[in-house]
This record gives sequence, structure tokens and C-alpha cells, in this order.
Amino acid sequence: MSKYNFTKIEHPSPKTAEERAALMANPGFGKVFSDHMVTIKWSTDKGWHDAQIRAREPFQIDPASSVLHYAQEIFEGMKAYRMADGSLALFRPEENARRFNESAERMAMPEIPEDMFIEAVEALVHTDESWVPGGDGSFYLRPFMFASESFLGVRPANEYIFCVIGSTVGAYFKGGYKTVSVWISQEYTRAAPGGTGAAKCGGNYASSLVATAEAFKNGCDQVVFLDAVERKWVDELGGMNIFFVMDDKTIITPPLGTILPGITRASIMKLARESGYTVSETPYSFDQWKEDAASGKLREAFACGTAAVIAGIGTVKYPEGTFAIGNSGDGEVTSELRSKLVGIQRGTVADTHGWMRTI
Ligand code: PMP
Repeated sequence: MSKYNFTKIEHPSPKTAEERAALMANPGFGKVFSDHMVTIKWSTDKGWHDAQIRAREPFQIDPASSVLHYAQEIFEGMKAYRMADGSLALFRPEENARRFNESAERMAMPEIPEDMFIEAVEALVHTDESWVPGGDGSFYLRPFMFASESFLGVRPANEYIFCVIGSTVGAYFKGGYKTVSVWISQEYTRAAPGGTGAAKCGGNYASSLVATAEAFKNGCDQVVFLDAVERKWVDELGGMNIFFVMDDKTIITPPLGTILPGITRASIMKLARESGYTVSETPYSFDQWKEDAASGKLREAFACGTAAVIAGIGTVKYPEGTFAIGNSGDGEVTSELRSKLVGIQRGTVADTHGWMRTI
């Protein structure tokens, strides 16, 4: 079955069952890491080579590695689930592989064969299967690639390392779903036309953090970015896409271009259309958002992404004011779509789209 040869290097001291259980008891998000990692090297002369499954450990990289200077780095975020019947499955991994290569192309990095990407992810899940929790938890996978060549000239690097690490994560919302509050960033933008907004590259996140910090300072959970040209149109959140549910069974979401083409976003559009909603990928301005929230035309708004899946937006804050959406609680459409998607991901709702890949 395996097309690529991953050399397995024995872990000298994996966590004991007791240590693992203690770490997995209350994992939070992105703090508890499994024992192994997968690495594959790339160089201009050898292409992809040296695929290994080995102990998770620090990299030794040269201080002149180009990633440290020019930020040639991309990543993905995806999850493995322990299904209701005990089997293990990934949610739409081909989509992550495809988006990874789109990011690679934008960042002048080598593309990885999609089946090699998926095999690497599966190899890690199989090796660290005991780190995949049941219940509401999941195993968050972080495939990434960075320029490892030591060279200070400004040009695409000639050497890269691809790596996959995994992290046990708990339920995103403990004790039931909560709505999130969002801060509208008016000073900072995330992505300009022709820029890297649609790529999942580290640099996008580095430049968004000051706005996220501003959101926290203003008591909000997340930041919403407006477009970089007119500072008028809603783009997306720091790490999630956004949807607006109107009073006429219409759902609006900003069009692709400068935003990350979310896999959750694409899945929700499909599920919503099948449920009889009209989904429109159309620009939506912040002024319109305020007006529709005040008139009641806007019934619900929600954010979506791999980590939280779907989170209702209750309150919106901006430098001049604040407003609520609906009753600030989790809306009907938000919970309907969430139940469908989470059900598919957990194996309690029929997967009619073939989205779950049993591994
Ligand atoms: N936008 C941004 C900026 C993100 O980081 C993410 C998380 N990957 C998303 C949207 C949602 O994408 P996905 O549904 O594929 O996780």
C-alpha cells in the first residue's frame, strides 16, 4: 500500500502510558505533542528524499537558514478523529494537500506529491495512534515546510525540510458552545491583492498578531480583518473564515482572493446549499454588517475553521462602538450546520460526500 519508503527510527524513550494519560487528560489546544514526527528533505539536486518517522525532537538548523531571515515557510492544519466505531479517520486530507501545494507555489517552494503528503500524515497518525483521543477530542496535525538552506542571498532557497507533528487537542469549547466576540481591526490589514493572503504561510500570521493583541486588549476573542484597499469589506478572522446568516434563508460569505480558502468554509457552503439555503460568495461591508445587525436582517454570524469548526459570533466591537448579533447566543442555523459537520467528522451523521478518509 505504501508508495513511499519512510524509514522508521525507533524512539529511544517514548512517553509511558501513565505519562501520556496525564498529558491527554486536559490537553487544551496545541500544547500536548505526540512522541514522533515525520520529516522529508528536499534539495534542488535530489528532489524529495530521506523520508523518516522518528522521535519528535528539536531541529538543528544553521543560523543562516533562510527561513529565519526571509520567512519561507508554509503549513497546514488538519485533524484525525477517533470515530464513533473506534476507527481513525482524516477529514478531507486531499484538500489540505492541494492547498499546501498552492501555498508552496506562491512562496516559490517545491511542491510535494499529494499522495506523499497524505502518506506522511497517515504514517504519523498510525505511529502515534495512542495519542488520538476519543470523545470530543481530536488529533491536530501540523504539516509544514521551511527553507533550510544556509544562505543569506535573497532568492528561493535550494533546500527545504517538510515535517509533520501531531498534537492531542480537547474540545474547543469546554462545557458547551459559546459565542465569540470579535474586534474589527481598522488600523491593520492582513492581505493585499497580489499578496499572500490566500497562502497559509507563517508570515501572514506574524503580521496579524499585533491586531490579535489589540483584540485581546479590547476584551475580544478574535480579530476580523477588512480589505486592504478600501478598508471597507469584511475579509476573514485571524484564523477563521466568516459567514452571515440573513433573514431570508440567504447566507453570505466573502469571496476568495485575499482570504484563506478554508476547507471548513467550502464544506459548510456545500452543507448549507443541500439544506436549502442560498449561499452567496459576495463582498459584505462592515457598514452593511452594522446596519443589518441593527435592523434584524442579519440573524446570525459565525466563524469557521479546523480548530473550532463553527463558532457563533455574539458581539462585535470596533474603536467607535459595539453591537450584538441576534440575541448574542448560538443561532439556529449556526447550530444546525455545526451538528451536521461535527456529526460527519465523528461518524454519527452519514458521510454522503466521502469526506472522511479511514486510515
Ligand atoms: N482563515 C485563516 C486565516 C486560517 O488560519 C484558517 C485556519 N486554517 C482558516 C481561515 C480556516 O481554514 P480551514 O477551514 O481550512 O481550517
